[in-house]
Amino acid sequence: ATMPPLLSAIANAGRHGVLVKSAVVLEHLGTATRVAFDKTGTLTTGTPQLADLRPLPDAALSERELLALAAAAENPSEHPLARAVVTAARRAGIPIRAAEGFASAPGRGVTARVDGRTVEVGRPAEGTLDGGLRGAVQELEAAGRTAVLVRVDGEPAAVLGLADRPRPDAARAVARLAALTGSAPHLLTGDNPHAARRLADDVGIAEVHAGLLPSDKVDRVRELQSRGERVALVGDGVNDAPALATAHVGIAMGRSGSDLALDTADAVVTRDELATLPAVLGLARRARRLVI
Ligand code: ADP
Ligand code: MG
Repeated sequence: ATMPPLLSAIANAGRHGVLVKSAVVLEHLGTATRVAFDKTGTLTTGTPQLADLRPLPDAALSERELLALAAAAENPSEHPLARAVVTAARRAGIPIRAAEGFASAPGRGVTARVDGRTVEVGRPAEGTLDGGLRGAVQELEAAGRTAVLVRVDGEPAAVLGLADRPRPDAARAVARLAALTGSAPHLLTGDNPHAARRLADDVGIAEVHAGLLPSDKVDRVRELQSRGERVALVGDGVNDAPALATAHVGIAMGRSGSDLALDTADAVVTRDELATLPAVLGLARRARRLVI
């Protein structure tokens, strides 16, 4: 049977490992002028490792107890950093305790009650860090880690350092997307500027916007759009969902992607490889030429 060119291109995209939700989406993929990427779980493997645990000097709790509390609070979360903390605790033979009143703030972190204590794990808020704490955070960030603060009953108790790796095909995908669109991809991340810069250098991205909250990612997309750009945004997290909805075309990573990102996105990478993106952008551009 002969299919109309747009439909056969959608079927083709599916074979390449990208689920394109409609013909309009294929059209939008073919007209994108700029690609922007989230970092954690999108350009990185999304399986970070807990590399450092630094109790604050006056912390009354042992390292093991701090890890136990942090893992219990993170356990209900799908976030890659949360999975890393829980995995580290399990590897240390620490049973994961029950958490009550769990709440998460996308782009910031989590909070829960564990054994009657309030445990918060998340982004260290600048300006609120005192001397020793700021030193520990800066040292980890300078080493390219994602630094995360653990608070127990409102008091800073430990700093965690998490290390993530770029996906093996990230640099190649970035270069091919740049060639296809004729414009250099951007990085939009909630992580700190040092870790963001390091990853960007590894994969060949020059323009980096770090420390972004979910609404800041939306603002960056709008800013590009106000300059006449049609943005294809690639992301995976709950934190990316508002920006995925704002972009000309939102693309979610299927395997690491949160349900919200998958529902919000216009297209989903079902084969867990970034190399699928230039392939599908290329075929979307060719399909347009056939239709016009
Ligand atoms: P990205 O844009 O790189 O995917 P996010 O927006 O999800 O990152 O998170 C931004 C920052 O917020 C993280 O670098 C971390 O400091 C903090 N954060 C978010 N979620 C969590 C979590 N579940 N546990 C610890 N820290 C978190
Ligand atoms: Mg992410």
